[in-house]
Amino acid sequence: MKRLNFIAVLLAVITLASCNDTAEKKDTTMTNNSINKADMNLSVNPGYNFFEYANGGWMKNNPVPSDKTQYGSFTVLYDNNQKKLKSLVDDLINGNEKKNDDAKKIAAIFKTGMDTVSIDKMGFTPLNAELSKINNINTKEQFMNVVAKMHTHYTPALFSIQASQDDKNSSMVILHMYQGGLGLPDRDYYISNDERSVKLRADYVKLIKTLFTLTGNDEETASKKAKDILAFETSLAKNSLTRLELRDPFTTYNKMTIDDLQKISPSINWKEYFTNIGLKDLNDFNVGTTNFFKELSPLLDKTDIETLKTYLSWNVILDGSSYLSSDFEKASFEFYGKSLSGQQEMRPRWERVLEITNKALGEAVGKLYVEKYFPQEAKERMLKLVENLRTAFAGRINNINWMSDITKQKALNKLNGITVKVAYPDKWKDYSKLEINENLSYYENISNAKKFAFNENIAKVGKPYDKLEWGMTPQTVNAYYSPNANEIVFPAAILQAPFFDMDADDAVNYGAIGVVIGHEMTHGFDDQGKNYDIDGNLNSWWTEEDSIKFSERAQVVVNQFNNYVELDSLHVNGKLTLGENIADLGGLNISWDAYQMTEEAKANVSIEDFTPAQRFYLSYSTVWRQTILNEELMRRLKEDVHSPGDARVNVPLFNLATFYEAFNITEKDKLYRPESERAYIW
Ligand SMILES: [Zn+2]
Repeated sequence: MKRLNFIAVLLAVITLASCNDTAEKKDTTMTNNSINKADMNLSVNPGYNFFEYANGGWMKNNPVPSDKTQYGSFTVLYDNNQKKLKSLVDDLINGNEKKNDDAKKIAAIFKTGMDTVSIDKMGFTPLNAELSKINNINTKEQFMNVVAKMHTHYTPALFSIQASQDDKNSSMVILHMYQGGLGLPDRDYYISNDERSVKLRADYVKLIKTLFTLTGNDEETASKKAKDILAFETSLAKNSLTRLELRDPFTTYNKMTIDDLQKISPSINWKEYFTNIGLKDLNDFNVGTTNFFKELSPLLDKTDIETLKTYLSWNVILDGSSYLSSDFEKASFEFYGKSLSGQQEMRPRWERVLEITNKALGEAVGKLYVEKYFPQEAKERMLKLVENLRTAFAGRINNINWMSDITKQKALNKLNGITVKVAYPDKWKDYSKLEINENLSYYENISNAKKFAFNENIAKVGKPYDKLEWGMTPQTVNAYYSPNANEIVFPAAILQAPFFDMDADDAVNYGAIGVVIGHEMTHGFDDQGKNYDIDGNLNSWWTEEDSIKFSERAQVVVNQFNNYVELDSLHVNGKLTLGENIADLGGLNISWDAYQMTEEAKANVSIEDFTPAQRFYLSYSTVWRQTILNEELMRRLKEDVHSPGDARVNVPLFNLATFYEAFNITEKDKLYRPESERAYIW
């Protein structure tokens, strides 16, 4: 489990397992972002299902490819970007570009990753050293020493640790400890008895058995191990908070000392653990999930050492399965691709290796990417757009009728205090101490990269927060708001059509990237972000009355999404997705206001039969168009804090008089809501 608020609030979750190559797919959407009638379904009334009206033609022509689980604007752009990155790496390998140290490392990890002959020949032997260390464990103390060692390579086991800003003193970085140690992606999958969870558990057991068999165990031993692992992880799951509970920043802030932790979790020698991960002089830290660590102690006491060893071996094998021989990769895909998300085929190898390269050397790749592909003038234009959005948001705050002047003033201060980062960092990461070269195996290169990333992260503990740091690479098609840094960040890769198009009319840009900017700004004022002040500290700046009014208004959004049917009896989880839905609604309102200030909006001239207002909303829908497999949809409804694409379009529009006006929507239409049922927050 990663810490949710430190990772910041993303625009969308793109499951990499589901984003892949479509070389042969004709890509009409990316060449120009003007509204294309062929992509729409003009036979549908926009007031009945706007998502279908705006995207029906495109969806009909773009079923989910067999090596993906969903397909949409993000995936199309992601695919295009992958091709650019591949050509960049190919040039490095073929010697078409002069190679500095970073470039040599990029070429080396990619090359060793593509060398499947060597990888297959090695089988699982790269794991031998780690597995034999686990085999030699005789005591629980030794067990914890190995856990610590695994953590220093970011290999999951029992719980997770991460250095990031202190929620109550955001200028400093501290260590955060969270629940973790699960192979299934949600704690509920271990506990729920619905059909899907039961099947996922059975398939997970099958995966464990297969991977243990592949590492030399006979079938009976592998079966026993699988049973023990599921039982142990189920205990961890029962002690874990739900995703919804993890969204509460007050619940997950519990600063303590080693002595405090020792008292609530006595069976682990914490001083020794911290020393082993390189934090000998640790003073205090945050325990995000206290009950988990409290219950971990008796769980470790009552679990026999053999089961604990099996559990560690499992984590080493599972973690390595994506970098080992093809039989390991296939087994892992059968579960994480097919069972969980319905994906039929694996992505091409080059994409998977490129993804690892991006993870290992993200900013080194990003630097080359920006030099080669990013037009500087896009940055200027973007910075200007952001300021237009900020002005529009300030105007809305001033006009809000439900908030007191005193809270309004603080909201305006926070808005003005938002830092903006566009395209790429001013200071690049230094990879000179990371050892990656062609003489090492792929596994060794990855292992070095993981150790390097861990050391880099943990070295920040106890130091001031570095404001120049980026939480996303420039080549990522996404954006984020960080509540602790009170900043919005837009990587270079999202500054392309259909999000941002230098040649398109303003309506199209404000409907797409404009709403994205507004979305990220609104995250500073959603149900989580509102708890952080201008400096990024968890510090309620609201009057009690205003806070209650906010919650009442947020509840309207919760209800609207709870009532939105996605698949048969499956609805969106209004509470889990609340922050994102508030951000979408705010983004639409703010960007609409910003657009009204442009000359183009004032001139009000139609293009290709659509008024500027219509183009604004059609452009917004283009961003979220999507085809998706049922399995992936079910997974996301359970795990993703973002609503599915159709809900992100149809539901916020319920609330917008300007949308009703643009498409002549009246009380006879399905999407129409009387004013008393509309949500109005920002
Ligand atoms: Zn978001």
